[in-house]
Formats: sequence, structure tokens, C-alpha cells
Amino acid sequence: QAMYAAKQQGRNGYHYFAPAMQEGATLKHELRQALENNELRLVYQPVIALASGRMQKVEALLRWQHPSRGLLTPAEFLAAAEHSGAIVGIGDWIFRQAVLLAQRLQAEYGPNFQVCVNKSALQFRSEDCNVESWLAFLRQRQVDARSIVIEVTEKLLMDANSQTTGKLKRLQEAGMQLALDDFGTGYCSVSFLRRFQIDYLKIDPAFIANLDDGIHGQELCRAIIAMAHTLGIQVIAEGIEHPGQLAILKAAGSDFGQGNLLSEPVSEDKLEKISLVC
Ligand code: C2E
Ligand code: MG
Ligand code: MG
Ligand code: MG
Repeated sequence: QAMYAAKQQGRNGYHYFAPAMQEGATLKHELRQALENNELRLVYQPVIALASGRMQKVEALLRWQHPSRGLLTPAEFLAAAEHSGAIVGIGDWIFRQAVLLAQRLQAEYGPNFQVCVNKSALQFRSEDCNVESWLAFLRQRQVDARSIVIEVTEKLLMDANSQTTGKLKRLQEAGMQLALDDFGTGYCSVSFLRRFQIDYLKIDPAFIANLDDGIHGQELCRAIIAMAHTLGIQVIAEGIEHPGQLAILKAAGSDFGQGNLLSEPVSEDKLEKISLVC
């Protein structure tokens, strides 16, 4: 293998790509062990009901405590996890963690408390992704399926094959809710929102960032919120960083808010102390 790499380096620019490719291969290999080695972590970002200021949901966000590279965020390893197929096992683990957390937090914050989990397209596409096992876990733990919100992207919905659609339908029929993540960055149409019976629309941070400069950003947000409400969809504004943005979103009627101003993603033990945020 070393010889093969050395040979490539002598030719037309391959050596520029080789290190990145090798790093990707190493990551993929290491990822298969990460779960067993107990290196994966979840942090949780509070989702706040803006009318009451109360935390009503958390979003689970994946981290990898890599033995030599330190704490990695999804941007650094999610693609490798997807392309190696490791995401399926990791996703099952995340789902179970979310269910157990929902159960614990509902004891403190009430039965309507929800945990939101991100799911990627490749995960749903995989034959190994067995949503029946998720539902079985919920039954086994006696947790209501409504405790879990599945977050998907516009791209996932637009590219959904019959496998993906079938799995989403099954989860929704069982009572799980569906959130459309990063709304506004893709090309999702109103008909998609209706067809997939989206429960929550998460406005992308890119829109929130433009809120306090100029009237257009505000009007656009108001229009998105009005459209969502017309369709019976609740809105979660993501990436709130400044008090001005929060004030505008409250006035515009956004149902929920999420962002570093309200709370950064935190470890599970810190969640029990959060109640009233804004
Ligand atoms: P996302 O689902 O849109 O998650 C929100 C991202 O925004 C998180 O980044 C969060 O840390 C970050 N964020 C929170 N507050 C603020 C803020 O005030 N300002 C800004 N600029 N950003 C903020 P993170 O944790 O790095 O996750 C990035 C993406 O990786 C997520 O975007 C999601 O698409 C994906 N991801 C995370 N966890 C999972 C997972 O368990 N499974 C899958 N399939 N994807 C995941
Ligand atoms: Mg998300
Ligand atoms: Mg998002
Ligand atoms: Mg995202």
C-alpha cells in the first residue's frame, strides 16, 4: 500500500489528494471503533418556547472525543460516518440515548418535553436502518413516540426514495414528530411541507443573522412564520445570538427559539438546572 502511494506521488498531482484521502480512510476506520470505545458524546441545546421563556425541547448534537485529535464536531466527521455506513449504528445509539433522556427530563419538565434528533439521508437509505427497532425500544422503555422529534433537511425530503418515505411515514404514524432543519437554504416547496406533514420548521441561522440589519430580513422572517402558521406548522428560529434578534422573533410570533444567546449546547448534567431562559 505504501508503494502504491509512493508511485502515485510521482505523477500528475495525485499527491495533492493522497493525504486527504488517506485521512478520510483513517477516520472511517477509526469511526467503526468509536462507538465501542465510548468516544462518542451527545451535547444538548435547549429549544425555548418564546412566549413563556421555558425550555420545552432539546436538540441532541453529536461530538466525537477523538483520542488524539481532541473534540470533533459533526462537520469534521459526519461525511466519513455516512460514507462508511458507521452512521447507521451511531444513529441507533443516538436514538436510544434520546429516548432515555426524554424519559428522564419528562419527569422534571412534564410529559410534553421532547428530544430532537438529526437524521441524515444516507442513514434512512441504508437497508440496515431499521426503524422498527426504534419503535420497539420506545415500547420497551414505555416512552411515548411523541417524545422524539426527527430533524431532516430539505435535501433529504427532495431526494427521498420510497424506502426513506416509508420509514418516515412509519415513524410519524407511531406518533413521532418531524422537523424540517435549515429551512430556507434549499429549494423546498410548500407542497413538500404538506406532503411530508412537517410539524416544525427550523429557520436557518443565515436568516436570523440578517434580522437586525434592515427591514427586509425582518419581513422575510415574518413571511416565513406566517406561511408556516397557515400550514399549521410551528416555527423554531435557530442560531439566535443577539438580544435584538430575539426581540424581533418574539414580536414576529416565532414559536420557539434556539441559539447561543439562549443557551449553547451543554452536557446532560447541566440540563436539569435550566428552566426559565428568557
Ligand atoms: P443543525 O441540526 O442545524 O444544528 C445546529 C448547529 O448550530 C449545531 O452545530 C449548533 O451547535 C450550532 N449552533 C447553536 N447555536 C448557534 C448559534 O447561536 N449560532 C450559530 N452560528 N450556530 C449555532 P453542530 O453541533 O456543529 O452541528 C452541525 C450539524 O451537524 C447539525 O446542524 C446537523 O445537521 C449535524 N448533526 C449534528 N448532530 C447530528 C447527529 O446526531 N446526526 C446527524 N445525522 N447529523 C448531526
Ligand atoms: Mg438540527
Ligand atoms: Mg439547523
Ligand atoms: Mg444542519
